[in-house]
Amino acid sequence: MDTIKIVVAGPRGRMGKEAVALVQETEHFSLVGVIDRKNNGQSLRDVEGFSNVNAPIFTDIVECFSETKPDVLIDLTTPETGKYHTEVAIEHGVRPVVGTTGFTKEELDRLSQMAEERKVGAIIAPNFAVGAVLMMKFSQMAAKYFQDVEIIELHHDQKLDAPSGTAVKTAELLTAVRETKQQGHPNEKETIQGARGAEYDGIRIHSVRLPGLVAHQEVMFGGNGQMLSIRHDSFNRASFMSGVKLSVDTVMNLDVLVYGLENIIE
Ligand code: NAP
Repeated sequence: MDTIKIVVAGPRGRMGKEAVALVQETEHFSLVGVIDRKNNGQSLRDVEGFSNVNAPIFTDIVECFSETKPDVLIDLTTPETGKYHTEVAIEHGVRPVVGTTGFTKEELDRLSQMAEERKVGAIIAPNFAVGAVLMMKFSQMAAKYFQDVEIIELHHDQKLDAPSGTAVKTAELLTAVRETKQQGHPNEKETIQGARGAEYDGIRIHSVRLPGLVAHQEVMFGGNGQMLSIRHDSFNRASFMSGVKLSVDTVMNLDVLVYGLENIIE
């Protein structure tokens, strides 16, 4: 297998640390550099927690790409930075594998168009956990039979975007098969604003933020005298790394942007 040269953006972050470890332990992956807003010009091994990792640190993404000539950028940063990095990567012919969440539909459409025009493969996945992808697929199956559905997503309290990318993606998958229906009583009134959560095509999405949580989602379907609940829990960030690895391998053979891990697993 040919070696894939990888740059990780956000290496000191909770996801970034796991991604650096993944690249280090995968035989055909090579970490050629990292993008961080601190420690420009140093090696990652000088940063606490990375004593075994010898990779140059760049603050400027363009400089990083021209010095290291990577095949793939793994981005695990913040919504604004992630969008910028993805755009620059596509412009430079570096395939982005993006776990960073918070992209709007318009932004995804624009990036898709850029990737198609330049024939650069890209994967943006709001959830790299295979179990979460199955939770979304099973929910889509259920939505054919249960029109009444509400989504509850639960995350740690450091998360910047709400609702989660997974919740939005789930709502998109549900609306593809579910007849539009406004959830709740037509005359319902919120006595405290936001009590009924966000709304996506009539589906209500509720976001819980608490310390101690990682990434969890429950999709609740109500029927006549019955309820179906489909839930997935990520207990740590290692749960996302098999999806990152699969995405890096897959993106090497793509020339368009794929949004969502469910589109690359059987
Ligand atoms: P985190 O711990 O806050 O890490 C984010 C890292 O990005 C921090 O180290 C931050 O640096 C760094 N950063 C910010 N701006 C930067 C820039 N301009 N250049 C380089 N690095 C920059 O967050 P996390 O929990 O790892 O999550 C990261 C992203 O992944 C979030 O968008 C989150 O929603 C998403 N996520 C996705 C999945 C998935 O499966 N797709 C799963 C979990 C999380 P500082 O320390 O200096 O702020």
